[in-house]
Amino acid sequence: MTATAAPQTASPAASSSTSSAFVPAPRWTTEALVALFELPFSDLMFRAQEVHRANHKANAIQRSTLLSIKTGGCSEDCGYCSQSAHHGEAQREALLEVTDVVAAAQAARDKGATRFCMGAAWRGPKDKDLDRVTDMIVAVKALGMETCVTLGMLKEGQAKRLKEAGLDYYNHNLDTAPEFYGQVITTHAQSERFDTLDRAREAGIKLCCGGIVGMGETRRQRASLLVELANMSPPPESVPINELVPMPGTPLENAPPLDPFEFVRTIAVARITMPGSMVRLSAGRQEMSDELQALCFLAGANSIFYGDKLLTAGNPEADRDEALFARLGLTSA
Ligand code: SF4
Repeated sequence: MTATAAPQTASPAASSSTSSAFVPAPRWTTEALVALFELPFSDLMFRAQEVHRANHKANAIQRSTLLSIKTGGCSEDCGYCSQSAHHGEAQREALLEVTDVVAAAQAARDKGATRFCMGAAWRGPKDKDLDRVTDMIVAVKALGMETCVTLGMLKEGQAKRLKEAGLDYYNHNLDTAPEFYGQVITTHAQSERFDTLDRAREAGIKLCCGGIVGMGETRRQRASLLVELANMSPPPESVPINELVPMPGTPLENAPPLDPFEFVRTIAVARITMPGSMVRLSAGRQEMSDELQALCFLAGANSIFYGDKLLTAGNPEADRDEALFARLGLTSA
């Protein structure tokens, strides 16, 4: 470990002087994370494995299935997204009926998924939309599955309604580094994302929050994204690391592909800096070879999206995943 790769710690003096049990939260710096990224590959993988094995079952992978419950026509202009009304080509579909969602959740559970994630292409939900979404949450919980929704930005009181319906996780990604955000999205500020994350946390909902790499950001900006995540207090329970899937018609359709080893390094740095979090290998997995996925698991990824569709992008078929798990000796978490 290099001297600069250690987390900085907040001064105990900054906390309540009455608490003798104060444990300062690690404060990672971009420099420390860049130093991790720059380690020789084998050293970085070794560090990631050490952290992984100290905090998680070594060979267990959690599986989530993601369903688009409302597709396309979104008012936001996220440069990677085919569901944006500004440039997206995704077929628009209205909010699904609860019965359709339950059928999809049941099928996912039967194939081994333990968490069901429901995504809607909205800037944020209207209160009347939440009525049906909360019905979906109640129904999916009744199947014995964990629930996650991604609905965009939440207004005051909406997180509480979701929590009361039994929601376990709220997904809202930071997407990228603060200093790169404006080059990808202009219709809202990243600070608005933090507001939603705060509302979900305050309501007692666990966070699923990560980002997308391969959008033209620098390594330092990848490090900066992970610093923002790792320094949350606590870090998100679930951290999806997505590789850009260039979608036709979007501003990023011709983004040059990321070096696969750089993607694996990103997973490893996420694992080291967020030891207790589930790190999810998310979008981009369909395009990865089995060998590259194995490296990602070695780097500390311990969760995947499972099923043949990720909103509007493809995902490996469940049978291919079963075969890969068998070849690698992986089990379901
Ligand atoms: S990522 Fe979400 S908020 Fe952005 S355009 Fe797509 S659906 Fe809308």
